[in-house]
Amino acid sequence: MSSKDQIIKINIEDEDAYAEDLYKDLISSCSKHVKIKDITLIRKAFDLAKESHKGVKRKSGEPYILHPVAVAKIITSEIGLGTTSITCALLHDVVEDTEYTLEDINHFFGEKISAIIDGLTKISDVFDKQSSLQAENFRKMLMTLSDDVRVILIKLADRLHNMRTLDSMPPNKQLKIAGETIYLYAPLAHRLGLYAIKSELEDLSLKYRHPDAFEEISAKIKDNEKKRQQEINRFSLPIIEKLENSKINFDINGRPKSIFSIWNKMQVKNIQFGEVYDLMAIRIIFKSLNRETEKAQCWQIYSIITDIYTPKPDRIRDWISSPKANGYEALHTTVMGPNGKWVEIQIRSERMDEIAERGFAAHWKYKGENASENELDRWIKRIREMLENPNSDALEFLDDFKMNLFSAEIMVFTPKGEIKTLPKHSTTLDFAFEIHSEIGNKAIGAKVNHKLVPLNYVLRSGDQVEIITSNKQKIQKEWLENVLTAKAKTSITDAIKAETKDRIQKGKSILETKLKILNINPSGRVLKKIIPEYKISTKDELYSKIGSGIIKLDNLKKILKKNTKNKIIRYWDLQISKTTSSNKTKKSTEVSTKKQKFNYKDPLIINDDADQELYSIKISDCCSPIPGDEVIGYKNPNDDFVIIHKAKCPTAIRLMSSEGNYIVPAKWISQKFLSSLAKLILNGIDRIGIASDITAVISKELSVNIRKIFIETHDGIFEGAIDLYVHNVRDLNNLIMNISKIKGVDSVKRNEKIAK
Ligand code: MN
Repeated sequence: MSSKDQIIKINIEDEDAYAEDLYKDLISSCSKHVKIKDITLIRKAFDLAKESHKGVKRKSGEPYILHPVAVAKIITSEIGLGTTSITCALLHDVVEDTEYTLEDINHFFGEKISAIIDGLTKISDVFDKQSSLQAENFRKMLMTLSDDVRVILIKLADRLHNMRTLDSMPPNKQLKIAGETIYLYAPLAHRLGLYAIKSELEDLSLKYRHPDAFEEISAKIKDNEKKRQQEINRFSLPIIEKLENSKINFDINGRPKSIFSIWNKMQVKNIQFGEVYDLMAIRIIFKSLNRETEKAQCWQIYSIITDIYTPKPDRIRDWISSPKANGYEALHTTVMGPNGKWVEIQIRSERMDEIAERGFAAHWKYKGENASENELDRWIKRIREMLENPNSDALEFLDDFKMNLFSAEIMVFTPKGEIKTLPKHSTTLDFAFEIHSEIGNKAIGAKVNHKLVPLNYVLRSGDQVEIITSNKQKIQKEWLENVLTAKAKTSITDAIKAETKDRIQKGKSILETKLKILNINPSGRVLKKIIPEYKISTKDELYSKIGSGIIKLDNLKKILKKNTKNKIIRYWDLQISKTTSSNKTKKSTEVSTKKQKFNYKDPLIINDDADQELYSIKISDCCSPIPGDEVIGYKNPNDDFVIIHKAKCPTAIRLMSSEGNYIVPAKWISQKFLSSLAKLILNGIDRIGIASDITAVISKELSVNIRKIFIETHDGIFEGAIDLYVHNVRDLNNLIMNISKIKGVDSVKRNEKIAK
């Protein structure tokens, strides 16, 4: 870490010997990528780093020099970069944290290295300032991408080492750093094709965000490992025999699934560990005779395997003929294994495997240092386009960016045969905006492969697309649902914003005139009475709906006469206690404690029998956590309450990353007196009396109250939603179990969004 508050002075004498050991270890691990004559430069950088960080310790107690050397080691042995990058990694915190300036670096190491260090320092600079939004910083970080991609790679190595040593940080910092990591760094590593690093970052982030789930899955993996290995061997044996007969030099292994990927599948698909873990995947890595025959060898191996096992039709993925945008090359297929289960097989040469694990850096190795052309350049160009758009707000930008990182891509053609790359699931309308915003604005339909299709038609790779336009066309809000790309969304939103502004203005003056007739001043109090009446939530929405004639204001007089009660939803004044003794102040000082600085460090314990009342709690509506859920707190310094989110809520993860300094670890142990709202979603086969059976089960549960129930049937299927007040997760799970036992009910699920 580069911030200065976590460092303390130590005895200097043993540090030299310690540092020397680290150096030897680094040199022996980078011999592959470094020429002998370059070692002088690395030594020089090491000496400067050692000298400048002298006497400083990391939070974990080791001398600070451990960190830059560890980052340099990641850079060379895990990313595969050479001298320049190793030198920069060693120096990455020098300008940031010590007396040395950029001019010094320039003087000792020259232009190129000092430019990279400058980039790294700038990133750190914005990242560590508490006040600024990290989202905005991330944008700046990407700006530097086009200067030298090594800046990003070193920053990733820096983050990886910090994640590996996160244990020594306080819990609130752990959450902030782990949140940022899953939100920004892992997708970035993925996009750069650094699979191994991406996967480790995801696992480490999960370890701190959901420690219990992490432990549980790791333990289960350990328990099942032997059985899995046996299955793999049984499947592989006939393949090994035949490949050896064909004189192919290869390695075969079961592709291990990461803890995060298992957890994620369990969450997204709502399935058990076993269902994810049982799916087998095999990887065959072969030594190619030479670069030219690689492709043919892949297909030869494919042919040998499919002589033994039957392939699943339509499951061939040929990333040899056209590699993925991040450089990935391999041949994938799925075959029927001996025990009736599908097995995925990946076939790669050693070169392809290195690219798959190390990504872009490996391209460098194979193509020389000028290999940054082609795909990566195109990607950087697209990022630039997004960055240069002055209208997009930083967080919105991040969401778009993240989406674009994750999604696969399709390639489509213009009528003239020009290739356009779009995210998977893009529509004809996305394509129109990709060509030009004016084409998008005027689009009325399209021809895909010479056939007429609507604007929401989902494109597939290889489609040839022609957009049909009309000058009479007007942009519609619904279009936002038909587009995927940031470019299209921004263009549509901008056009709508301009239009909405006019409408709001119009609505405002209509309302003011009507109120004037009734001799009433348009105050906030008056608006508060009107707004709930039309089931809307904001002032602007009211004006806009009046402006467009949706709200007619016919009953205005009646509404204003009504005595509306204040409706307070989901806001409780709970008592909070902090775990540390320092907070056990006497009653008389409590009031002032409340006004004092909020303590983000110690976990927040939410219960209902604490004898102190320090802060109030707001339960977030987006994820509706209930007692027993894993939760985190968010407290804006301007508010006197803490908002509680589920730890896996997408908003929470966004907050951890964008306003991580305001996140506080929390535990919800309260369960008495309090009821929380939860929503169940269910479906099944319709039959007479099913609704009353369901309500009967619910009313039997003493601790549960129905707020709203909604059941709809169509074509012999019913779908329903039930809003309930429950006390805790245990009661809710009990209820879910009992409902699922009812004849005809197919699935019952708690309605919750889950973050990736
Ligand atoms: Mn660092």
